[in-house]
Amino acid sequence: MNFSSVEVRFAVEAARAAAGLVQRIQRDLAAEALTKNDRSPVTVADFAAQAVVAAKLAEAFPQETLVAEEASAALRSPDHADVTVKVVAYVRSLFPQADAETVLQWIDRGAAPARGRFWVLDPIDGTKGFLRGDQYAVALALVEEGQVTLGVLACPNLEAGREPAKHGAGTLALAVRGAGARWAPLQHPTSWQPLRVSDEDDPARARLLRSFESSHTNAGQIEAVARALGTQAEPVRMDSQAKYAVLAAGGAEVYLRLLSPAKPDYREKIWDQAAGALLVEEAGGRVTDLDGKPLDFSAGRLLERNRGVVATNGLLHAAVLEALRAVGA
Ligand code: AMP
Ligand code: MG
Repeated sequence: MNFSSVEVRFAVEAARAAAGLVQRIQRDLAAEALTKNDRSPVTVADFAAQAVVAAKLAEAFPQETLVAEEASAALRSPDHADVTVKVVAYVRSLFPQADAETVLQWIDRGAAPARGRFWVLDPIDGTKGFLRGDQYAVALALVEEGQVTLGVLACPNLEAGREPAKHGAGTLALAVRGAGARWAPLQHPTSWQPLRVSDEDDPARARLLRSFESSHTNAGQIEAVARALGTQAEPVRMDSQAKYAVLAAGGAEVYLRLLSPAKPDYREKIWDQAAGALLVEEAGGRVTDLDGKPLDFSAGRLLERNRGVVATNGLLHAAVLEALRAVGA
């Protein structure tokens, strides 16, 4: 595969279409809902984005399978009829011929077994970031025999370019195994720039990334790792796989996904890591679990054989694994 492959064209188009719809839903619904502490906008956007990617996959590659986060069961319950009506209406804005049943069936294409060759989708990664107006991503990847071979992240609020951690007009990041990683502005992805990790090799100057949500990580242990490395700066808190895009662009050196003390047996979901992990590897970085093992995408819908994730610019990987061992992570 290379950047001109049909798979790449499909992935970019599907991720951009889903991200565009999600942004529209956010503009329409989220401001009002936030004041009422209502999660329904993210629910509508999540299901609608999954339906759109599934529909585009059915058009482009009717035989291929999709592993995705959502299932239509909840939408089929009369309790959620109001959400379902909105999901169907938004999907019909892109696919006017689709009726409600077709939309629900598109969503359920995501229940395929995670085996052999399959696409993996997180329609909205970082739902809490979406609700807060912070970072989130549409994350789509292709997995072949346990290896991620293509990954795309559409990050509507990420600043592209030299300072990728800032809020901005949107970034599309793309990686193809063996061919590299690149980014383009999400709105007009015509000129692509290479993604390259930072060449910082001094652990004391490492910039760390972590989940915004403390329940998704172990904040205390991250502080301890930072001390062991000798870094002074506070870890940057950010939602979603946008963190991987920042690392791939050289905007940070280390991304830690440690195990929350409340859920020490948590296993990562493949759609939360696949696209971002390839992005970092193809930008010259390294991604393993906390024990230094490669992420194993052949274990089903979860990374059953891995604990947590550590991604770095490569140069600092050994030092970070050593620090993790030293603090007992
Ligand atoms: P982030 O914004 O990087 O924290 O990633 C968001 C993802 O974290 C969500 O899509 C969830 O699937 C995942 N998640 C939920 N609970 C946990 C947990 N206890 N530990 C790690 N990740 C989690
Ligand atoms: Mg997610």
